[in-house]
Amino acid sequence: MSSPEAGRLYEKLKKEAEASGYILNPDKDLVTDLMEGLVTNKQRYGYLSCPCRLADGIREKDLDLICPCDYRDADLDEYGACYCALYVSEEVAAGKRELTQVPERRNAESSKTAKTNDQETTRLTGHGIPVWRCRVCGYLCARPEPPLKCPICKADKDRFERF
Ligand code: SF4
Repeated sequence: MSSPEAGRLYEKLKKEAEASGYILNPDKDLVTDLMEGLVTNKQRYGYLSCPCRLADGIREKDLDLICPCDYRDADLDEYGACYCALYVSEEVAAGKRELTQVPERRNAESSKTAKTNDQETTRLTGHGIPVWRCRVCGYLCARPEPPLKCPICKADKDRFERF
């Protein structure tokens, strides 16, 4: 039995997932536990930090861990599920592929991103407008500032990086 907050969050994430082509794990018990974890993290930190990872508690440091995290798509591609198995591929949802343990890719990816940021020079379009990339879903847009919400995955503005 889930709390009302967890139930509401589930409905919201399900709607957003369906609208953008993602699938939530059909395992109701697992998903209920994850919703409760997300709600607890939201109350504790003010944002939906990944329920399967230890958060720092400072939004800027946890940006890559805000659900859906930066690693969801790569893990879905490679393992058929995100690290927590909240999101699964079609094959996994249909029982055609078995769920396996998804290894943590956070540290490897973070050091790559840090390197890229160090080497980054300002990249602009031919019209002098910066290009922004959503770190969650890869959506690209050229505008002076990133959008408040990603129109594809609904990630917040601070999940965008200069592309
Ligand atoms: S997408 Fe999955 S692994 Fe990533 S934060 Fe959400 S529940 Fe955790």
